[in-house]
Amino acid sequence: MKVIGSLAAIRRQSAAWVRSGESVGLVPTMGALHEGHLSLIRRARKECRRVVVSIYVNPIQFGPKEDFTRYPRPRRPDLALCRQTGADLVLAPGNLYLPDHSTFIEESAVSQGRDGASRPGHFRGVATVVLKLFNLVRPTTAYFGQKDAQQVDVIRRMVRDLDVPVKIAVVPTVRDTDGVALSSRNQYLSPAQRALAAQFARSLQQASARRKTDPAKWLRAELKKIPGLNLDYVELTDNRLCAAVFIGQTRLIDNEQMQR
Ligand code: AMP
Repeated sequence: MKVIGSLAAIRRQSAAWVRSGESVGLVPTMGALHEGHLSLIRRARKECRRVVVSIYVNPIQFGPKEDFTRYPRPRRPDLALCRQTGADLVLAPGNLYLPDHSTFIEESAVSQGRDGASRPGHFRGVATVVLKLFNLVRPTTAYFGQKDAQQVDVIRRMVRDLDVPVKIAVVPTVRDTDGVALSSRNQYLSPAQRALAAQFARSLQQASARRKTDPAKWLRAELKKIPGLNLDYVELTDNRLCAAVFIGQTRLIDNEQMQR
């Protein structure tokens, strides 16, 4: 497995793969890898000749009061997991932006509401870094997790609107035994907060499984009953129940497909 930090080196490598006509799978991540990320890498491994994992904590998708500086960066364990899961190449650039970077991708419909409303500028940062990664790596398929449902919507829309030649694959959410969706941010939670995260996951699951006339309203009411958990939003979008909560300083998001 190669580890590349330089943009010139990744451009050379992707140009060689394009020339040879090999399929390339890209798994964009911010590192602190867990089984959720690994399921994306495994799927790419099954479907593509070459597998690239990018590890980059993208500063422009964090708000000024968010956790950019304290976001976990366990570099060596991350590289070991990539190697074990069969990645061919890890792209781990120090910085992706020139000091006078001034061009951004702004999706203006599906990025509105939900996380877009709570985290102004977040999806602009996500879309910009993802398009840069697509141009650097030139993947045939890029893999994203269903956990970040609105992110998937934004990326799909960007790819469609800007004719980006890449296929988008979406991988189901991987959960822990207590139902909590795996997330790099779960490590911020104390044991008591972790129990609240499990209640959040359980309520979301119940709301999606039971036939409620208004599942979003039911879930909102359930979540408001849990002391120590602060509701950000609950929204039913495309038959998917999406929610975000704060537990202490930690913001968790999750979603479940409504069962018919
Ligand atoms: P992140 O490192 O949080 O930016 O996530 C990188 C990719 O992994 C994104 O496409 C996420 O949606 C995906 N991902 C994160 N957590 C999970 C999970 N629990 N199950 C499946 N995919 C996930």
